[in-house]
Amino acid sequence: MSNQILVVVEHLKGNIEDITFEMLGKAKELGGEVVALLMGSGAEGLASQLGAADKVIYVDDANLAEYNPQAYCKTVGAVVAANQPKMVMIGNTSMGMDIAGGVSVDQNMPFIAYVSGISGDTITSSLYGGKMNVDSSTSGDGFIISVIAGSFPADAGRVDGSPAVETAAAPDLSGLSVQFKQLIEPEGGDVDITTQEVLVSIGRGIQSDENMPMAEELAAKLGGAVSCSRPIVDSKWLAKTRQVGKSGLKVKPKLYLALGISGAPEHIEGMKDADLIVAVNTDPNAPIFDYAHYGIVQDIFDFIPALSDKL
Ligand SMILES: Cc1cc2nc3c(=O)[nH]c(=O)nc-3n(C[C@H](O)[C@H](O)[C@H](O)COP(=O)(O)OP(=O)(O)OC[C@H]3O[C@@H](n4cnc5c(N)ncnc54)[C@H](O)[C@@H]3O)c2cc1C
Repeated sequence: MSNQILVVVEHLKGNIEDITFEMLGKAKELGGEVVALLMGSGAEGLASQLGAADKVIYVDDANLAEYNPQAYCKTVGAVVAANQPKMVMIGNTSMGMDIAGGVSVDQNMPFIAYVSGISGDTITSSLYGGKMNVDSSTSGDGFIISVIAGSFPADAGRVDGSPAVETAAAPDLSGLSVQFKQLIEPEGGDVDITTQEVLVSIGRGIQSDENMPMAEELAAKLGGAVSCSRPIVDSKWLAKTRQVGKSGLKVKPKLYLALGISGAPEHIEGMKDADLIVAVNTDPNAPIFDYAHYGIVQDIFDFIPALSDKL
């Protein structure tokens, strides 16, 4: 077994996803040879952003131009078989979960999912939306982990440079039964809550869509945007693009103001990494207070106008 850590690069529309930099930074800290596996068609230029790796293995094939679980699984499997890394790091993303499971079966390698921490030989998985942590250790032979986005600092792996690029031939990707048809993007014209520095996030405590304007006003005064928990989207008071959480978006603003949100694990998963979390809830036992840096036990219909007036 080599001392190689193979990091599977995730990219979409010419942009390398942050999770890749998180994994590269962590891999560098762990030591050994860090190898980034970049797959695509005409995507070699992205290697210049992978300076944190000692080497980039680049596989080019028309079938890898867009994400295709079959093509990506076969390619990662072939590279793993050829290089025998001691650890394969894959993002615990929709894409990565496809690949990691497939390669684990294909290469008969143990797979530890939902990884949020690595310390020595102990690998911590965060389960049930962070309600339970499970520590695993491996025999040291080749294994796969899928890393939850936001677990490690991305800046540590965001290094420009010119790592050595080794081109590897794609395995036989003819006759795939899965074909890429279309990338469906979120509805246009709405705010991208993942890039906002301030989010005023509304939960079921807002009670009615008639009360939404007061949240919009507060967000505008704070120079941010309104986001929400799932019931607000289910009620069609806000677009799906505003939903934070497991089945929504993961956000990391400087300020996350949680107003009338209980703090269900599925919601927490999307916002727990915000720099500053302030929660307002009438229920002093609301789980959101376990994650908030500041908790205010108050009615949001008193809190929102009071803060708006002050601003
Ligand atoms: C597979 C799956 C995926 C899911 N994905 C997501 C997801 O992505 N995002 C998400 O958010 N949820 C998601 N959910 C739903 C999640 O389980 C919760 O049901 C949801 O987060 C609850 O939203 P909430 O906190 O707004 O509502 P509630 O749980 O009803 O909480 C409302 C809170 O408001 C407080 N409150 C009421 N009135 C006031 C007032 N006047 N002033 C102050 N506080 C008040 C109450 O005390 C309560 O704590 C998912 C569920 C499943 C099963």
